[in-house]
Amino acid sequence: MIGTLFIFSAPSGAGKTSLVKALLECTHHIGVSVSHTTRAPRPGEENGKDYHFVSTAEFQRMIGEAAFLEHAQVFDNYYGTSQAWVEAELAAGRDVILEIDWQGAQQVRHLMPEAVSVFIAPPSIQTLRERLERRGQDSADVIERRMRDARTEMSHYGEYDYLIINDNFDNSLQELRSVVVARRHRLAAQQQRHADILQALLNG
Ligand code: 5GP
Repeated sequence: MIGTLFIFSAPSGAGKTSLVKALLECTHHIGVSVSHTTRAPRPGEENGKDYHFVSTAEFQRMIGEAAFLEHAQVFDNYYGTSQAWVEAELAAGRDVILEIDWQGAQQVRHLMPEAVSVFIAPPSIQTLRERLERRGQDSADVIERRMRDARTEMSHYGEYDYLIINDNFDNSLQELRSVVVARRHRLAAQQQRHADILQALLNG
């Protein structure tokens, strides 16, 4: 059985990580891919949970071994998605979320056109700035850089299947969950999942 691959992208500060965390708490049979990155851990981040933190040399070795489904440079650091993990999860019938940027999304769409992509946007530029500042994890320079990169990320929203404006956390969570749940109930997926029930219904 084949699970569904979801791509979630958002500018930094749009609330994507909190939404994904809440989504995982209220949805079964879905997991999030833990990316590899060359960026340094932020306070509170755990190796293997938030990211696999690796050196640039290690990252490059993995590129050479074709270990990544996609990889990209974002804010001067490299980020990549482990191909083996994603493929094993999908093959086991579990849905997988990739939290990746627009460059990675383009690569994955090309390789797996059946992937479902969702763009999460903030309600305004002002809100984005406030969220980045409130996070208190980045210097002023880094925040300015992230604001510029956010505009680039947002210019790609039209490439996604679904768009969520994260104005209210609870509403956005419901919207995101609706996309995941609706997709899961498509006829072809349900036919695979419930072949026994369907056969019994027709033969009964
Ligand atoms: P952060 O450093 O704030 O955790 O993430 C910065 C950006 O990198 C975000 O836009 C995030 O979606 C993106 N990102 C995280 N992991 C990956 C990945 O594996 N591949 C790609 N292409 N982007 C990623």
